[in-house]
Parts: sequence; structure tokens; C-alpha cells
Amino acid sequence: MMRSSRSHDSHTSSPTAALELIKTTKIYPSPGGDVHALRGISLRLEPGTFTAVMGPSGSGKSTFLHCASGLDTPTSGQVMIGGHDLSGYSERRLTLFRREHVGFIFQAYNLIPTLTVQDNITLPLRLSGKPVDHQWAQEVIGQVGMADLLQRRPSELSGGQQQRVAIARALIGRPDLLMADEPTGALDLTTGTQVLELLTIVTSRMGQTVVMVTHDARAAAYADEVLFLADGQVGGRLSGASVETIATRMTHLGDKS
Ligand code: ADP
Ligand code: MG
Repeated sequence: MMRSSRSHDSHTSSPTAALELIKTTKIYPSPGGDVHALRGISLRLEPGTFTAVMGPSGSGKSTFLHCASGLDTPTSGQVMIGGHDLSGYSERRLTLFRREHVGFIFQAYNLIPTLTVQDNITLPLRLSGKPVDHQWAQEVIGQVGMADLLQRRPSELSGGQQQRVAIARALIGRPDLLMADEPTGALDLTTGTQVLELLTIVTSRMGQTVVMVTHDARAAAYADEVLFLADGQVGGRLSGASVETIATRMTHLGDKS
């Protein structure tokens, strides 16, 4: 039921990385000259880790998130998710791959208003024609605290509850990677804190790998490691850092735009 075994034997073997980038670049052609949004990023994230990605506006965070999740293709270099090298995948194949291997949560919850909580959560399985693993579904629904609200519609939920449904929907297919883009951006402090705590719980208890883009040092401090992007490159990494340390590092990266 739990899928944490892969993350626990890391001393004895070298498990497949949840995410690996090798010299990944992204260049946007533009009339005013090519924009080098990612300038050769190499990194490896182990299964069951929670990583925050921070950086000034224009540093490449969104491009990183898109390329590292198969939403967009890099100009050169490799992206591997759960050991699958996405190089050469067609749009169609990427779409199918994402459905099976990547979960997404955004600032906007993107729930289907006409569907119940239960049907929103299991929607990805229906889209990919997969049967519901009821034991796993129960585990996920329990972890996000939605067991008593399964028959509600999104309009009958608070923002924090809707984001928890979105997290459950992202987890239902046991993705190699959960990508979160400013997941607490629309939430008040208390509710945002609950969502961040939930992300740490799905990492530690379910062995989920989480990558979260945020501009908020307080949110980033929930992650195991903070990855700083500066001008399309990794400008530093901090493990187990405090809010103050993260905020100080951010100010020294400087703003580009
Ligand atoms: P961030 O999310 O950190 O603000 P982005 O990844 O959005 O950074 O952008 C990185 C750089 O790439 C910026 O200079 C931005 O202007 C440029 N950029 C992003 N998307 C495009 C695009 N579709 N076409 C051209 N340039 C882009
Ligand atoms: Mg962005």
C-alpha cells in the first residue's frame, strides 16, 4: 500500500532518480534575439524528497517546471522522470506520459465544478482508462482529509479544501513526480500552512517526490531542499534551511527583470 520502499533503501542501492536533468537548456527564439531561459541545468532528485524551486522573476522557474514535467521540451539536454528519458517524445506521447507519471497542482485548483469530490479525485484514472485501486484511493483521500466530503461539489468547499482535492487528484495515479506551482498562492496563511504540511506528509509517509515552485521563503522552508535558479542556472542549493536563511539567499540572487 505504501510506496516508500524506493526511498528507504538509498544507502544500499542507487534507486532510479525521480527526476534527472542533464545539461538541460531551453532557448526561446525571439525577434529581439534568442532568450536563454535554461542554460544547462543538471540535477538529480531522489524519490521521496520535497524540493522547493526559488528564483527572481525571469530566472527560469516556469520554464524549469514545464521542461522538468514534460509539459514542454528542452532545446538540448535530457530530462528523465522515474528513469524514463523523454528525449524525442512526440506531443501525444508526452501527454500520455504526463497522465501516468506526473501529478500537477497549481495556484488555481482547476477542479471540474459539475463533478463530486470523489469523481474529481479519480478523474485522471478515468482519462487514462485505469481501474481505481480502492485501497490506494482510500489512503490518498484519508491523507488529504476528504473522507467525509466525497459527495460535495467544489463550490461547496473552501479554498484549502479544494486544493486538498487537487492534491489527491494529483496523487491518485501514484506519479513519479508531483509538480506544484505556487500551490499556496491563493490561500490565506493558515490554510496555506495546512497545504504545505500536507505536502511534507505525502513526501514522508507516501514516499512521494514533490517539486514546488514558490516565491515565498516561508513556503520553501517546508521543503527538504531549496534549489535557487538565477539567470537560467542553478545558483545554489540549501538543505534544511530556515525561513531567514532562505530569504537572505534570495535577496542576494538579485532581480533580473
Ligand atoms: P520565471 O518563471 O522565473 O519568472 P520564466 O521561465 O517564465 O521565468 O522565464 C525565463 C526567461 O524566458 C525570461 O527571460 C522570460 O522572458 C523568457 N520566456 C519565458 N517564456 C517565453 C516564451 N514563451 N517566449 C519567449 N521568451 C520566454
Ligand atoms: Mg514564472
